[in-house]
Amino acid sequence: MSLRDAILRIELVRGLVDFVFPPLCLGCSTYTDNKSIVCDSCLKSIDRFSFPICLCCFKMLPSGALCSECREQSLTLFALGNYTAPLRDLIIQFKFKGIRSIATMFAEELVVQFGSRIAEFDAALLVPVPLHPEREHSRGYNQAQVLAQRLAPLLDIDVADDILLRLVKGRPQADQKFEKRAENIKGVFNVPRPAKTAERVILVDDVVTTGSTMMEARRVLDGAGYRTVAAISVAHGL
Ligand SMILES: [Zn+2]
Ligand SMILES: [Zn+2]
Repeated sequence: MSLRDAILRIELVRGLVDFVFPPLCLGCSTYTDNKSIVCDSCLKSIDRFSFPICLCCFKMLPSGALCSECREQSLTLFALGNYTAPLRDLIIQFKFKGIRSIATMFAEELVVQFGSRIAEFDAALLVPVPLHPEREHSRGYNQAQVLAQRLAPLLDIDVADDILLRLVKGRPQADQKFEKRAENIKGVFNVPRPAKTAERVILVDDVVTTGSTMMEARRVLDGAGYRTVAAISVAHGL
């Protein structure tokens, strides 16, 4: 499916669903006639990023794919917007209240906002950042995997959720002090089988803060012969 077809399909399906079920906005709980589960006013108040971000120096990247200062250290992050209300509240519902359907809206908004630039990276695989199996079991799902699955048909990129594993539990990054996060995440990931053909990979997670989780995932993937070319998240915030 081409990107244009994907966007047309998003609009068509939204229109049909809303005709039958006028939804309550998941951001502010008012009735919405918007073609989404989030109302126009909430969608408009998302503090959106117009450009991708360099995960090394957090500068916006208005031109070109790579940060000219950080060069090969750089990893280009496509994030919908800042981790502030209403995006933060929607992510909390997605992650902790079991409302997986918000992932469809996140994926659609990401594709409308950045789809053509993501396509330029010519990736073969979307790799969700894994949770430790115990944490995934208690939550019932891995939110990064759910998001990757929603993105896959829109971007026409396969999801590979079995190449990057998380064997070490560690403490949730949100509980860690900023400077401790890189140390805390070191060594938690594992790639059991080396890449066959240096597949180009885009990492997917719900929120990026310091970027240390993404950078560690890239280190391990690239060490096993993959080529991590970019990252996607719903929000970025420090
Ligand atoms: Zn709303
Ligand atoms: Zn940079």
